[in-house]
Amino acid sequence: MSRKILVTSALPYANGAIHLGHLVEYIQTDIWVRFQKMAGNECWYVCADDTHGTPIMLRAEKEGITPEQLIERVHGEHSRDFAGFGVGFDNFYSTNSAETQECANDIYLKLRAGGLIDIRTIEQYYDPVKQLFLPDRFIKGECPKCHAKDQYGDNCEVCGAAYAPTDLIEPYSAVSGAKPELRKSEHYFFKLSDPRCEDFLRKYTSSGVLQNEAANKMQEWLGAPGENKLTDWDISRDAPYFGFEIPDAPGKYFYVWLDAPIGYMGSFKNLCSKNGLDFNEYFKPDSTTELYHFIGKDILYFHALFWPAELQHAGYRTPTKIFAHGFLTVDGAKMSKSRGTFITAQSYLDTGLNPEWLRYYYAAKLSASMEDIDLSLDDFVARVNADLVGKYVNIASRSAGFIAKRFNGQLAPATADLPAIKSIQEAAPRIAELYEAREFGKAMREVMALTDAANQYVDSVKPWELAKQEGRDQELHVACSNALNLFRLLTVLLKPILPVVAGKVEKFLNIAPLVWDDSQSLLAAGHGINAYEHLMTRVDPKLIEKLVEANKESLTAAPAAPTPQRHAEQQQHDAKAKTAAAETAAEAGSLCTIDDFMKVDLRIARIANAEHVEGADKLVRLTLDIGGDTTRNVFAGIKSAYDPAQLIGRLTVMVANLAPRKMKFGLSEGMVLAASDADGKTPGIFLLSPDSGAQPGMRVK
Ligand SMILES: [Zn+2]
Repeated sequence: MSRKILVTSALPYANGAIHLGHLVEYIQTDIWVRFQKMAGNECWYVCADDTHGTPIMLRAEKEGITPEQLIERVHGEHSRDFAGFGVGFDNFYSTNSAETQECANDIYLKLRAGGLIDIRTIEQYYDPVKQLFLPDRFIKGECPKCHAKDQYGDNCEVCGAAYAPTDLIEPYSAVSGAKPELRKSEHYFFKLSDPRCEDFLRKYTSSGVLQNEAANKMQEWLGAPGENKLTDWDISRDAPYFGFEIPDAPGKYFYVWLDAPIGYMGSFKNLCSKNGLDFNEYFKPDSTTELYHFIGKDILYFHALFWPAELQHAGYRTPTKIFAHGFLTVDGAKMSKSRGTFITAQSYLDTGLNPEWLRYYYAAKLSASMEDIDLSLDDFVARVNADLVGKYVNIASRSAGFIAKRFNGQLAPATADLPAIKSIQEAAPRIAELYEAREFGKAMREVMALTDAANQYVDSVKPWELAKQEGRDQELHVACSNALNLFRLLTVLLKPILPVVAGKVEKFLNIAPLVWDDSQSLLAAGHGINAYEHLMTRVDPKLIEKLVEANKESLTAAPAAPTPQRHAEQQQHDAKAKTAAAETAAEAGSLCTIDDFMKVDLRIARIANAEHVEGADKLVRLTLDIGGDTTRNVFAGIKSAYDPAQLIGRLTVMVANLAPRKMKFGLSEGMVLAASDADGKTPGIFLLSPDSGAQPGMRVK
């Protein structure tokens, strides 16, 4: 019986580009969905851009556009990237939609009616310059535990401690650099610690909806029985905020993470209205449909605790299963902009690489576990060329020509009991189970073993030799027909991963779109095929080099201009940074101690944007990315030496804890380091660059 299945991928945040790390999830989900559709199930795949929150609001402001304009542009970019990689959403929507708002209000009001919403006054940091309450990630300061400088407001990346932003020592706003003030404000909480939520979550999270590793994590978060470790969830944010206003609470908005999972419902609701589907059938509490969320392991807390608890207590069904996956590494390391391995989806497509190469490579690496997967670029080239081109496509290219030239494009009856054919047909149900279980890597190993057997058959009958011999036409006809039948069967097994190639094969073999059951049938005698067209080329390793080059942050300094120039005044503060021997020379008054030096918070910064400043002949306005979605606005007196356009993308070093300075042209929130010869013997200004591999936000010391 056909199952009814609703599938989601996590919502991409609408302020950045899709990269190969994101694509692990979308490709994994898409393969699973395509398999379900081929298997004859009614399966719907929905997603949306996650559009709300302070980062979107600030980014739009920085670009001088409205948040709506920003999210519309990003939606176009995301749609293009997903389509480019064959990610076949049935609906790719936006959380900034009437449907999502309707669902968010509905869930909120039902939780409120059920006594699961609480209003409390909390003290929160407020940025007096930007005039907004600061999210934890926009407050930085010294870790109260290990005293590392410049840590985020929610946890320390040095010692791993978690704390409240109010625990930070000498906090500052990462938006303006200003010292934040504590202000009181009413916030709305979802009472996750309520015994009803706890009881439900203990049962739910141990009922097999999660992978074992994830279920164990839940036990940690829930605490031992009798020890309720759940804490209530702050679901409101104060204006100014880009999001949905909370019903009956003017000036209060739903926190972006409240309406993000609800965006799955919103997108599906929108699809229902377009396709005449029954939304209620999929979301009513006793629904017999299935609901699956594919997510990264970093957002388990939201999907395995908050989300099911909300659904349960608002009178909706809960997810059937939550599938978490690991992260992507490239060549064994975290993706890196300076190494060129932080690869955007667009650059991959622009370089002319075939998206199905990547789909196949990911599939070959993916399993049902939460382990990270590695994209090894050399292995990528070798595996795609060996498996897809050398083994799979090769079967068709070696036999199709003879059918066309010698047999008028018509097939002979296939040999139904040919061992290579029988073994594919017997393996198909097993491979279907592997697809269902998301064990794509195991499935591909089986498929490639079957492909090897198919090639052995072709090698044993040698059509190219039969073709040269008189009177062996019939043998040639059967051999090539068997080969094309083998090729068709293998295409069924690969179609969830290679939809475009499969589409070309269907055209070439002159057949209806392949479904899973086609793995049990053979092409009829006399079936006419079309001319063979090239299905897939080999990966040229030069393209990979080009791709890495295209994604490399420029580390070469722009040529210096010949005229010596003084730095703008905020460039003059960097004396303290020049200290190799400070530790041993602390006693001398003119020297600075290591403690003095450590007060200067030097960070690697990426120049996200650089532009001329109207009316300033020495200054360039720099937007510096210092990691963690944090950017700083800095005016630097380097205009004489650098063309702003050449600066964009390169890495440099900045003083991140310099007191913000109000200048004629705006607030300068730090300074960049540059070298110059005070005597003017060597003219020019030389911006510092870190060695290759440094990442925005790394501390320089
Ligand atoms: Zn710490």
